[in-house]
Amino acid sequence: MNRAAKLSLAALGVTLLALVPVVSGNIYLQNLLIMTFLLAVLASGWNIIGGYAGYISLGHSAFIGVGAYTAGILANRWGVSPLVVAPLGGVAAALIALSLSLVTGRTRGAAFVIVTFAMLELLGLVATNWPGLTGGADGLVLPLPSWSVDIQNWPFYYALLLLVVLSVLMSIAIKRSKLGLGLVAIRDDEDKAAGIGVTTPVYKAIAFMASAVLVGVAGSVYGYYVSYLDTSALFDITLSVEVVLAALIGGRGTVWGPVLGAAILQPLIEVTNSSFGGASAGAVRLLLFGGLLVAVALLLPRGLLPELERLARRILRHREPSLTGARLADRPVPEFLRRSAPPVAADGTAPPSLLSVAGVSKRFGGVKALDGASFSVRAGSITALIGPNGSGKTTLFNVMDGTYRASAGEVRLAGDDITEWSRTRRAFAGMGRTYQLPRLFDSLSVLENVAAVTDEFRLRTLLASAVSGAEAERATELLEFVGLGDYVDARASELSYGQRKLVELAQVLMLDPAVILLDEPAAGINPTLIRRLAGLIRSLNETGRTFVIVEHDMHFVLSLCDPVVVLSRGTVIADDGPQAVSSDPAVLEAYLGDDFVAEDIDAPVGAAR
Ligand code: ADP
Ligand code: MG
Repeated sequence: MNRAAKLSLAALGVTLLALVPVVSGNIYLQNLLIMTFLLAVLASGWNIIGGYAGYISLGHSAFIGVGAYTAGILANRWGVSPLVVAPLGGVAAALIALSLSLVTGRTRGAAFVIVTFAMLELLGLVATNWPGLTGGADGLVLPLPSWSVDIQNWPFYYALLLLVVLSVLMSIAIKRSKLGLGLVAIRDDEDKAAGIGVTTPVYKAIAFMASAVLVGVAGSVYGYYVSYLDTSALFDITLSVEVVLAALIGGRGTVWGPVLGAAILQPLIEVTNSSFGGASAGAVRLLLFGGLLVAVALLLPRGLLPELERLARRILRHREPSLTGARLADRPVPEFLRRSAPPVAADGTAPPSLLSVAGVSKRFGGVKALDGASFSVRAGSITALIGPNGSGKTTLFNVMDGTYRASAGEVRLAGDDITEWSRTRRAFAGMGRTYQLPRLFDSLSVLENVAAVTDEFRLRTLLASAVSGAEAERATELLEFVGLGDYVDARASELSYGQRKLVELAQVLMLDPAVILLDEPAAGINPTLIRRLAGLIRSLNETGRTFVIVEHDMHFVLSLCDPVVVLSRGTVIADDGPQAVSSDPAVLEAYLGDDFVAEDIDAPVGAAR
């Protein structure tokens, strides 16, 4: 469906819903719709952190409680209508979300779920045990609506309908923004996202606040609607479960999924409420929704909307692109990547060290992966880092790029001690890195994967469009440079292994880094691609970029790299030119083998052998 059709359909839907109270005096229907709107606002909000960013919150109903109490208490104190102070309920919810995201910091996965659940319980406890503020277990009575009984629940109805519209608009705005692109990157691979310049803690904090703010406002309205605030009902886990369920049924990560899910789930909730009254109602509901959750997970793992879209695409026989190979045409290095050659002292002394590690150790429990490794990378060099499997090469990369903190030792970049710097700060300072197994954001297109890279943090651009024209141009140029110009619109998940490696390289180049760490770039890719890769690296190096390359393909290493650093059991055992290293007895013994003969390494890999 195109944008205009979607918009007209949405406008029609809102108009019809707006007419319901006018044409029908059916109070039951009005109440059902009010509760559906409430659930839709909740699920939409939840979707921003749970769907876009992939952080499952099991405490989202707490923001309803926070909103309801904030507006209720203020309305009683100031003698105004709770609807007037409802926005403050949103502010309170956003502030609680902010403090929670500061507390959760590094928690992910199940730990995050538990923390959000704990927040819900904690807020419920505070509300119950602070009678001076909340009325405690006795509850809080709100003033009765001041408007005429003739218009019944209209103000609640329209306020919540407006909040649904605002929620959807916010979802759309975020989805199309840099913030949204960053959130999806975080969902797909958070460490990788940090490595390409996504300031993950800030993105997550903003997303969490955005996911709470309208829920808080809706909570204020809802509190007034029920007119009596009771802590056990407002901080109830059941509602949080229903929220997650609604988003999952409709399709999490989509704009309309949570709304659709709410529209399906709320009538079911009403039916179970009226059919199973009494003491067992809670248990029956939990059983039913638990079962529904399992069914959705098994039958519609991605939710209704995405499955429908897939079906439609299959019926329309959307052709799947056949993706093989890469265009090998030699292209010049894009203009924006050309740097001035690294500074060489006039007296001919060696160029300065751009990146260095000194005495770096890293332990994993009993395993000593790195044991006092030291070496430095000259500006403008293509330095190889070789050694047997398990000798600590990848771990050293992880310490250099900030994925791991070293247990001991120091890392320096361009003169700065960066040992304590975060992954993202190092990316901003000009360090790019690719992975042994390429890591891309699989739910994004190839172009978006490259354009998701940011080389500095600017708060005001977070809401700018996800991929600006200039960025798309730059990313396309880079993809053409690595031979993947035909694949800009493909899903990253559709690419072959070798192509993924090339996309990762384009991603890193988008950072315009001074130094690039490549972890086994040639492993598992075909010989043509290897030659192409060597050519790319050489031309990038000639235009002023420094490389550190971990690689087992010795022809590739010896003909491309100088110096060659050899790691064995976490220590550097050799650091010299390719000739010297390949005949060093210690290196032959530890890695290359006694019968290793360096072939004609003068023939560059880029040339025919
Ligand atoms: P290389 O890249 O040289 O093959 P690695 O750096 O991957 O070697 O691994 C070096 C050693 O550290 C290995 O013994 C490996 O099992 C161990 N190691 C690496 N990463 C971890 C980790 N996250 N947890 C535990 N042990 C690890
Ligand atoms: Mg490795």
